[in-house]
Amino acid sequence: MLTMIFLFLAQMSPVAYAETPAAKYPNMVVAKDYVKDLEVDLKYATADNFAKQILYTDLKECLVLRETAAMLKKANEKLKKIDHTLVFHAYDCLRPRSVQLQMWDVVKGTPSEPYVSDPNTSLASIHNYGCALDITISKKGSGPLDMGVPFDFFGDESHPRDEIQLMAKKKLTLKNIENRLLLRYVMTSAGFIPISNEWWHFNCATDEDVKTKFKIVQ
Ligand SMILES: [Zn+2]
Repeated sequence: MLTMIFLFLAQMSPVAYAETPAAKYPNMVVAKDYVKDLEVDLKYATADNFAKQILYTDLKECLVLRETAAMLKKANEKLKKIDHTLVFHAYDCLRPRSVQLQMWDVVKGTPSEPYVSDPNTSLASIHNYGCALDITISKKGSGPLDMGVPFDFFGDESHPRDEIQLMAKKKLTLKNIENRLLLRYVMTSAGFIPISNEWWHFNCATDEDVKTKFKIVQ
């Protein structure tokens, strides 16, 4: 009996509890709990990213605010109504400000600067609040849809604002544009806000709402 009690207490110990990322970030939820078939592909947990280094040492899950997760669930329902073989594929979710500082060091003073929010501003990055998602759509079993350029391609071809001209210059195909429009349609239908220079990035609220309603994760 004593052994059983000991085992039970060991399971419940703060050490075991603190090891789960969701416990380390108590205001966040695991996005996959809301969208069961979400493909999680956190590029910053690997060295396959613009910084060429592993930036997330303990963050292995897509964590977001409950509000963001609920919106993604809604977007997923919309996506499934259009084509049940399509799934969301997340590249980045909650990103602590400490990582934002590391990223800023890599891009500061380079042409890539517009693609990383300055962590020293009053807002920093909306990713730092769990309110932003870097996301695409996959066809189940055959990987992400062709968006013309990959996630974190730092150049004009990533800009939603330039898509029409890019198609005219044959830098993007009609299919690329269709895929991006589908992504924007399902995300904005659920209330997400796209940005003008990254096809993969969506915010759960306006800058002002983020600052006043949510808490930054350092
Ligand atoms: Zn982003």
